[in-house]
Amino acid sequence: MSETKTLLILPGDGIGPEVMSEVLRVIEWLARHRGVTFEVGQGLVGGASIDAQGTPLAEETMARAMAADAVLLGAVGGPKWEALPFEQKPERGLLRLRKEMALFANLRPAPVFDALVDASPLKPEIVRGLDIVIVRELTGGVYFGEPRGISDLPGGGRRGVNTQVYTTEEIVRIARVAFQLAAKRHRRLCSVEKSNVMESGVLWRQEVQALHDAEFADIELSHMYADNCAMQLIRDPRQFDVIVTDNLFGDMLSDEAAMLTGSLGMLPSASLGEADADGRRRALYEPVHGSAPDIAGRGVANPLASLLSFAMCLRWSFDLAAEADLIEAAVKGVLDGGMRTADIMQPGKARVSTRVMGESILRELDKLTA
Ligand code: NAD
Repeated sequence: MSETKTLLILPGDGIGPEVMSEVLRVIEWLARHRGVTFEVGQGLVGGASIDAQGTPLAEETMARAMAADAVLLGAVGGPKWEALPFEQKPERGLLRLRKEMALFANLRPAPVFDALVDASPLKPEIVRGLDIVIVRELTGGVYFGEPRGISDLPGGGRRGVNTQVYTTEEIVRIARVAFQLAAKRHRRLCSVEKSNVMESGVLWRQEVQALHDAEFADIELSHMYADNCAMQLIRDPRQFDVIVTDNLFGDMLSDEAAMLTGSLGMLPSASLGEADADGRRRALYEPVHGSAPDIAGRGVANPLASLLSFAMCLRWSFDLAAEADLIEAAVKGVLDGGMRTADIMQPGKARVSTRVMGESILRELDKLTA
C-alpha cells in the first residue's frame, strides 16, 4: 500500500469485545506474516460509551470514524440500557454512524459453507454451495420519504402515511455498486422491485437497465418482482449471484437470505458510502448479529461473522483481495476440520470457545501460507 490506511475498531457491547479480540489477533498475524499493516485505533460505541462518557457516540469518536478508511463494529445494545429514552439508547450510536457517514449501500453476503449445510432450514440439495450477496439501498425509499406521519381524520379515525420515493441519482449510485460487485464475482445481477404496481419501481427498473446498457453491458442483468424474488430465494436460491434492491424490499429479502444459511454467527455485512474523487469510500463493516446478551461474558460467542466482516473490509476498503481470500479460506478450513462454537455445534464435532476458534483460525492461516 502506498500510504498507511486507518481502521477504527468499535467493539461495542455484549459479545462485541469478545469477538473483536479475535479479529485483533488476525490483524497482528497479518502484520507479522504478510507485512500488511494499517493504523488501528479503538473507540467506544453504544452502551459502553454511555457508561463511560454519557452518550452512545462521542463527538470525538464520530470525527475519527469520518476520517478513517474503514470502521469495524462489533455490536451494540443490551438489557442494561433498554429503559433509556429512544434518543439515548445504544442503537443511536450506530444509527448516527450510518447517517453521518452517508452509508447508502448495504452489502449482505449469505454464504453456505459446505460444513454447515445441515444448519440451513432448507434441504442440503437446495442450498449446498450457495453464495449470494444482497445489495440493499440504505438511506432512501419508504423509511425516509416525505410526506410521512399520522394525522386525525375529520370524520374520526386516523391516517398513517409513508412515501416510497427514489430519484435517478439514488438508483444509479446503488446500482453501480451492485454492478461493480457482480463484476468481481460471477457477473450476474438481478434487480428487484415491484414495477407492476409502483411507479418508483418502474423508474428503478428503467434506470438500472439504462446504467447496464451504458456502462455494464458485459454483466448479465435480469429484473424480478420482489414477491417473486421472496419465493425464488426459497425455491432455488442458487440461481442468484448479486441481487440489488431498495431499502424496504432489501430489509426483508436480506433477512430471508440470512435464514437460508441457518447460522447468524457466520454472517458479515458492509455498508458503503459515496466514492470521492480518489475512489475512497467511507465504510462500516459489522457482523449481522447483535450483542447476544444471553451469552455475553461467557467466552462462547462465534467470532467468525466478525472475521468475515474484516475480510470484506480488506477486500473493499484496503484492496487486499489476497488477504481477504486467505481469511475466508481459513474459516472454511477450520469448519471443515470440525471446529464449532456452540451456536453452530453439530453431533460428532468439537465444541470450542471463542478463543479456541480464534486460535484455530491463526493455525489455519499458518498452514495455508506454509
Ligand atoms: P442477537 O443477534 O444479539 O442474538 C440472537 C440470538 O443469536 C441469541 O440467542 C444469541 O445468543 C445468538 N447469537 C448472536 N450472535 C451470536 C454469535 N456471534 N455467536 C453465538 N451466538 C450468537 O439479537 P437479539 O437477541 O435480538 O438482540 C440482542 C441485543 O443486540 C439487543 O439490544 C439488540 O438491540 C441488539 N442488536 C444490535 C445489533 C447491532 O449492533 N447491529 C443488531 C441486532 C441486535
